[in-house]
Parts: sequence; structure tokens; C-alpha cells
Amino acid sequence: MKYISTRGGAAPQSFCDILLGGLAPDGGLYLPESYPQVSPAELAEWRELPYHALALRILTKYIDDIPACDLKVLVDRTYTERTYCWCRPGRDAADITPLTTLAPGFHLLELSNGPTLAFKDMAMQLLGNLFEYVLAKRGETINILAATSGDTGSAAEYAMRGKQGVRVFMLSPHGKMSAFQRAQMYSLQDENIINIAIRGMFDDCQDIVKAAFNDAPFKAQYKLGAVNSINWARVVAQVVYYFKGYFAATESNDQQVAFCVPSGNFGNICAGHIARMMGLPIARLVLATNENDVLDEFFRTGVYRPRGTMDTYVTSSPSMDISKASNFERFIFDLVGRDPAIVRELWSKVDAGGSFDLRGTPYLEKLSGFGFVSGKSTHADRLATIREVWQKHQVMIDTHTADAVKVAREHMLAGVPMVVLETAQPVKFAETIQEALGREPGRPQELEGIEDLPQRVIVMDADAEGVKALVAKTC
Ligand SMILES: *Cc1c(COP(=O)(O)O)cnc(C)c1O
Repeated sequence: MKYISTRGGAAPQSFCDILLGGLAPDGGLYLPESYPQVSPAELAEWRELPYHALALRILTKYIDDIPACDLKVLVDRTYTERTYCWCRPGRDAADITPLTTLAPGFHLLELSNGPTLAFKDMAMQLLGNLFEYVLAKRGETINILAATSGDTGSAAEYAMRGKQGVRVFMLSPHGKMSAFQRAQMYSLQDENIINIAIRGMFDDCQDIVKAAFNDAPFKAQYKLGAVNSINWARVVAQVVYYFKGYFAATESNDQQVAFCVPSGNFGNICAGHIARMMGLPIARLVLATNENDVLDEFFRTGVYRPRGTMDTYVTSSPSMDISKASNFERFIFDLVGRDPAIVRELWSKVDAGGSFDLRGTPYLEKLSGFGFVSGKSTHADRLATIREVWQKHQVMIDTHTADAVKVAREHMLAGVPMVVLETAQPVKFAETIQEALGREPGRPQELEGIEDLPQRVIVMDADAEGVKALVAKTC
């Protein structure tokens, strides 16, 4: 399997060659040359498999430059009951992603049982094991430099902690994250995890990261690497739970299913699109946004209009607060019949700060053929949904999942089970839960009191040179 760029200007690469990088050299995103297909016989066999075995079947179709026995070891090590142990009482942690049924034909797929209680662990844990393996094979090391406002940073740190050949420098805005989020990250005592709290906002952190990556000699000398959501390995790892969710919500492979996905950077739902392209019987992919509705607007109108950071709202489902969706280019590539010239034309507008409009083009008609519909949710919707699900079902959901539950209900298809992806646990967003329910969300017993553990963090000014000097001194 070779990987090509959505902008058509990069030589085809193998999986391990694109694993450690980010964008393709032509500024595009990597995708497989074609989507491997799943036969009815395979689907029948896969229905019975435990998560790690299913993951191996799917990943083998995409990764042909890691020997099968090695890949099996990495996958088995990643998807263990011990790592994804924090499911709801009464669910089986061995399922990795257990299903919770709220009503007949309406389910939650729990993706937030990993170490940081958010779905990003599902892919990031695999990434950590893949990085360590490939770096050791090649005798290389990497320094991951990234900025976080919460979920991504902690998932990356828990995936990379203690990994040979990997060091993580994670910038976060000083005093801007919740006490729980700070404790999750800063209490890690691993030598290879370096937390840097920047006196400034998230955007200042991101600017510093960009400045370091734009300094080509610095980037080369210190072997800077990224783990952001455009990383192909993260996307493909997420394909697995769409299959798992399908099997859990249906009785036979003649049935269809719908998924509803709380979306920000379009990484999660992009994996759903790929599962559908492989032949999984997905009738509908429902995309849910919060007040930051750039993607909802596109699927309703055909106009993609990224916002400026100043026009991005700070909401109570913060992991969906995006101004543009970094993985969206992958879907558009498929929508325009995989013609890189058209993608280049559309993104020449986006990259210049503009928008594009598919109204009056043949692509707008094709959109419905890909199964997508969308909707949005507001803070008031979120509170009402959290309250209602709690009162009716005694199930507590987080703010992002609430956005998806609200939108899923607007897009039900008769006779088709709806699977809402549960992307985080409520304890991560305790303030809003308190507002909705007047009570504190519970947390896994092992995480009681993590706010009181000793923390390791370096506080610095928002100054790229200062951060680069720290990286240089550490390496
Ligand atoms: C990252 C995240 C999302 C959005 O996922 P995308 O892949 O960016 O669309 C939704 N919910 C939670 C809790 C997240 O952490």
C-alpha cells in the first residue's frame, strides 16, 4: 500500500515513511492510493473478533512495511483491557469500546475509557507504540514539539511517556486549563515528558511551535516531529471502532447503521468515511458541531468558510472549538473524484484565508452519495441534553457527546440503529456538568486526588527563542 498526497505533488510513500511526518512536502495530506475493500466473508469473520484482533485485520490492509508478527505485538500491546479500563459500571472493559444502549436503536459507543478519558487515546496509544518501534528500527530519535489546550496534549503525553527515542515538549497556556487537565499532564514524572506552561493564550503556544518548525536548521538539528490530528496513523487507527460499533449495534451484516460524531478537526468522522468507503454498511454519517459550525455550514450549503481565530467561540465543548478543520481536505479529495488539481485550486483559496463554494458544481450533488448530514448544538442544547439523558437513563454524558446526541436525534432513519460516538468522560468538563445537573461528575477511583500530586512544569514567557533555547539545552 502506497500513500499519495491530496495535492498530487509528492512521490508515493510507504506507511513507515509517512508515520513520523506531518503534511506531505507539497502541503497536502496523505491518503492511501485506493481504499482496501472488505469482502462479505471477511465481514462475517470480523463480527466475532475481539478489538485487538479486529484492529490487526484492518491495519494489515494499510500497513505492509511492518512484518505481520511485529505489527501483531504492537497492536496487542495497545488495545488491552488494562489501558482502556475506565468504562461505565456493568460494561465489559475487555470490549475496549463497550456499547451503552439508551433506547432501542439508539446507542453510545464508549471511546473514552483510555488513560486520559477522551477518545484521542484510541489512536494516540497506537501511535506511541508505532513511533517507538520505527525509531528503534531506524536508529533514530524524535523530539515532539506541540501545543495543547487540553485533550490532545494529555493524550500525546500518556502515549509517549517512557517511550525509547521519543521526547515530548508540550506547550500549554499557563493557568488556562482546568485543574483536572493540569493535573493529568503536569503530574507525569517521566523524564521524556517536558511540560511548558506559557504565560499567554493557546494561540501564543501555537505560534511558538510554528516559529520553531519554520526554522528549518533548528527543526533538522533537533529532529522536531509532530503528532497532530492530520497524522495518517491516527486516522486509520480510528477506522477500527466504526467496525466494532457496527457489529455491536447490529445482529447481522445485512443491516445498516448510522453514526453521529461530535466533530472539530474532522479526524474522527474522516475515519468513518473511510470505513464506509471500505464497504462497511453505513447508511448515514451525522456530523455534529457546537457553535463553531464551519463544518455544519458546509454540509448544509456547500460553502466552506473557515473562520479567523478571532471569530472562533470559546464553548463548553472546547475540543470542538476550531476555526478550520485540518482533516477536511482528505474528504474533499474523495468528493472531487481524487483530482489533486481541484484540491489545489480550492485550497489556494483556503490557504490565503478565503473560502470556497461548491454550489453550482457537480460536487454538491455528489455530497449526499457519501452519506453525510449535519447539525449544530449550542450551550443551552448541551445543558438540556445532559439533563435529559441523566434523568431518563441515569447515564451521565460529557458536553461533546451531548452535542452529538442532540444532533443524532434530528437525523434518525427508520429501522437504522444510531450509534453516537462518546468522545470524553464528564469529569473532564465538571463545570458544565455542575451547571446542568447541580452535582459533580464521578471519576475513576484511581484518579481521586490527582490534583494534589506533585507537578512537573516549567513556566515561561511567550517567547519562541526562549523555548528553542530550552529545547536545545535539553537535547
Ligand atoms: C478532539 C475531540 C473531538 C473532535 O474530534 P475531531 O477528530 O477533531 O473531529 C470531539 N470530542 C472530544 C472530547 C475531543 O477530544
